[in-house]
Amino acid sequence: MKIPELLAPAGNMEKGLTAIEYGADALYLAGQRFGMRAQAGNFTLVEIKEILDTAHRRGVKIYVTVNTFPHNDEIDELPGYLEDLAELGVDGIILADPGVLRLAQKYAPNIPLHLSTQANTVNYAAAQFWVEAGISRLVLARELSREAIREMRRHISAELEIFVHGAMCMAYSGRCLLSTFLTGRDANRGACAQSCRWKYAVVEEKRPGEFFSLEEDALGTYIFNSKDLCLIDYIPDLVQIGVDSLKIEGRMKSSYYVATVVRAYRAALDLYAQDPENYRLPDELRDELHKVSHRPYWAGFFVPTGAGIHHKTAALVQTHDVVGVVQGYDEARGEAVVLIKNRLRKGETVEIMEPRGPVRIETITNMVEGDLGRTLDEAHANFTVRIPMPPTKPLSMLRVERK
Ligand code: SF4
Repeated sequence: MKIPELLAPAGNMEKGLTAIEYGADALYLAGQRFGMRAQAGNFTLVEIKEILDTAHRRGVKIYVTVNTFPHNDEIDELPGYLEDLAELGVDGIILADPGVLRLAQKYAPNIPLHLSTQANTVNYAAAQFWVEAGISRLVLARELSREAIREMRRHISAELEIFVHGAMCMAYSGRCLLSTFLTGRDANRGACAQSCRWKYAVVEEKRPGEFFSLEEDALGTYIFNSKDLCLIDYIPDLVQIGVDSLKIEGRMKSSYYVATVVRAYRAALDLYAQDPENYRLPDELRDELHKVSHRPYWAGFFVPTGAGIHHKTAALVQTHDVVGVVQGYDEARGEAVVLIKNRLRKGETVEIMEPRGPVRIETITNMVEGDLGRTLDEAHANFTVRIPMPPTKPLSMLRVERK
């Protein structure tokens, strides 16, 4: 039995380091160009080197996305960029365009090449084509059922990676022109405006300005708004199928989101590895995934239910808010040094989520502002405070339930 790699998004350095601490086996990230998330912080070459060094010390792999569909005027920049990635020694380059594949083979010849989900691989004949062309790992289309992935595994010995968690497109991943038409921001070049999350109405051509609203209820109907994918209930199927890597979507999401989701899947995979026969997903791990910002969850096309559009609202839901991140622990004083993210009051009860182990409940008995030594009744974003508590690991998150 092989436990698949847990692959996490790294929108910037902080999120990448958080994902490593919370148990990711590998990270995917973009450089300043040619990645699919133009608005994420992304990494300079110096930062890629820095996170590679940290990751490799911890046995974690780094894959870099070069998975936009570049136009003619961008091609000249690719050879130099690919050579830079090769020189840094990244563990994989994720690409979608056959031209980029050719250039990567020439300018980064020793780096494993992964085919992005943007290439929409839905059958084993296409998969074989890409493997023969030099691809070592296929990130399969999200639009595949459990049986289709099993069938793919039977025919393909190259590595298979699938998305297990996060936002979905209502079109084949990224192959959608809503954003380009409505805002000029091209989803296939990493600049999607998320236009599928907007509220739509019908207009008859000769009656401009007269909107026929599509009403599910008083809030309207969000006809293109896909639910979020969540496959944490299917860990045994994923292991038994023989998938090599489980990917979490979300380079634009917060460090808190990355920490929570990585921690839940890490714990589920570790539990399954310990005792596959008697494995049962603990309810608290499923509950953890409701504590971060998300749309209603569904199992996507893995177990099709036909209920993938969330008509009611584009609003994201979550049951908890992060209020602080532990920066360090002062053993002598028995205090955690906490960077405040959202307002925290003395006397409040918080959950403390450490990278491993159960979530703890603590009451904030005192808060002292780091530099000034002032005792506070209330701390606000970006304050650094010292809070008495039992030993707590760096990068642990403090969170409170939403009222
Ligand atoms: S508008 Fe929505 S469906 Fe289209 S590419 Fe963007 S996220 Fe995907």
